[in-house]
Amino acid sequence: MNFHVMTLFPDMVMAGLSDSIIGRAVSKGLLSIEAVNIRDFANNRHNKVDDYTYGGGAGMLMQAEPVYLCWQDIMDRIRQRRNADGKQSDDGNGVRVVYMTPQGRVFDQAMARELSREEDLILLCGHYEGVDERVLSEIVTDNVSVGDYVLTGGEIPAMIVVDAVSRLIPQVLHNDTSSELESFSDGLLEYPQYSRPEIWHDMRVPEVLLSGDHAKVDRWRHEQSLERTRQRRPDLYEKYMAR
Ligand code: SAM
Repeated sequence: MNFHVMTLFPDMVMAGLSDSIIGRAVSKGLLSIEAVNIRDFANNRHNKVDDYTYGGGAGMLMQAEPVYLCWQDIMDRIRQRRNADGKQSDDGNGVRVVYMTPQGRVFDQAMARELSREEDLILLCGHYEGVDERVLSEIVTDNVSVGDYVLTGGEIPAMIVVDAVSRLIPQVLHNDTSSELESFSDGLLEYPQYSRPEIWHDMRVPEVLLSGDHAKVDRWRHEQSLERTRQRRPDLYEKYMAR
């Protein structure tokens, strides 16, 4: 899978995604991440990409043209790569462009799973007051929010999406079953987990986990998942029980 992040702060994006599990997945060629600087597509001497908003109001807005040229550049490269890969008539139509915005659908595990099936994913990070509506209406296929609060830019949200989607790509995690069993995978939060030593600060690992009886362990974990979800996320619990 190939992520293309359109941003004014490419170093921030790459710094956040080049270590640990995601960094290793990139080194192994399981995925690629590029952060493309929208400023490189400014058509003025000072590389200015923002301007005042029509109608007044505080703050600056990212202008349409540099964003559009940046998107075109990425799309040209996607088409060239796909055609070189033998997908002769692939015009790149259907490449999803996700605008990170507090006005979008709130990102969740189901959306991460859905996006992980894409071959290419373009993520657009806004900054300042956001982006001129006209370019959004022309290139964006999905509006995605990371929660009901406002951040200074779309870079951290884009990193969240890249991270959550990447770990669902086969072989990115050491053990692919770990993403199938964890929180949200079946609509419940994950059960509590323990590692060595058996006793720590007078607290014992639950006996059942030492029993070696896998059926019993599975039952216990499911009960714990249910109880934890009921206590911490009654909204998810109700949804789960209603299915
Ligand atoms: N004026 C915009 C509004 O009220 O919807 C908010 C602009 S915000 C200060 C600047 C940029 O940060 C946005 O264009 C978006 O890319 C990003 N951003 C802020 N909060 C976000 C969130 N909760 N989810 C995703 N992106 C967010």
